[in-house]
Amino acid sequence: MHVGVIAVQGDVSEHAAAIRRVADARGVDTEITTIREAGLVDDCDVLLLPGGESTTISRLLADEGIDEEIHAHVEAGKPILATCAGLIVAARNPQDERVQSLDILDITVDRNAFGRQKDSFEAPLDIDGLDEPFPAVFIRAPLVESVSEGVDVLADWGGSPVAVRQGPIVATSFHPELTEDSRLHELALFDGQPATAETPEVSQ
Ligand code: GLN
Repeated sequence: MHVGVIAVQGDVSEHAAAIRRVADARGVDTEITTIREAGLVDDCDVLLLPGGESTTISRLLADEGIDEEIHAHVEAGKPILATCAGLIVAARNPQDERVQSLDILDITVDRNAFGRQKDSFEAPLDIDGLDEPFPAVFIRAPLVESVSEGVDVLADWGGSPVAVRQGPIVATSFHPELTEDSRLHELALFDGQPATAETPEVSQ
C-alpha cells in the first residue's frame, strides 16, 4: 500500500508515525511518501492532509498544482484523512477568502472558532466505528457549522460535528496523530484494504 502525506506545511512526521504503527500492526507492506510537489499523488492509494495553517497550506497546494491531483484522487474514490487545517482546506465553504478551498467536502466551517472560545484541550470522544472513546486533541480547532446531505457525522463535541465522512473522505477538527492511538488512521485509510495475515508457523 502506498500512503501519501501532504507535506507542504504542518505536522507531517506524526502522521507518518501513526501510519507506520497501523501498517506494522496489520502486517501491510506500506510505503510512505511525503508530498511537496506535483507528480506524486497519482501513485498513492490513500492520502493524508495534515493540520497546520490552512491559508498557507491551501496557497502552497495551488501554487504547486497539487490541488488538481487531490481532486483526481477523490474522483477515483481513493481515501483521504484530513485533519484540522486539512479539514478547513477540504471544506466547500471555509468562510475565509484567504483559504483556497479544495471544495471536496460539503461542509461550512468557522476556521478558528474553537480556538477563540477555548485554548487547546483534550477530550475523550465517542466516534462511530470505534468501540472505545478516542483521546481527541483540539488545537485552534475549526468549528463545523453545517454539513450537507451526504456528509455523515462520525462524532460531535458540544453539539458540533468534529469528525465527518463524505464518500472516501474522513475529516476531523482535532489531531488524531498527536496521541499513540492510531485507530482513526486505521478507520479512515486502511478499512477496506486487505490485512495481510501473518503466515502461520508450521510445526513439524
Ligand atoms: N485553525 C487553524 C487554521 O485555520 C488550524 C489549526 C490546526 O491545524 N491546528 O489554519
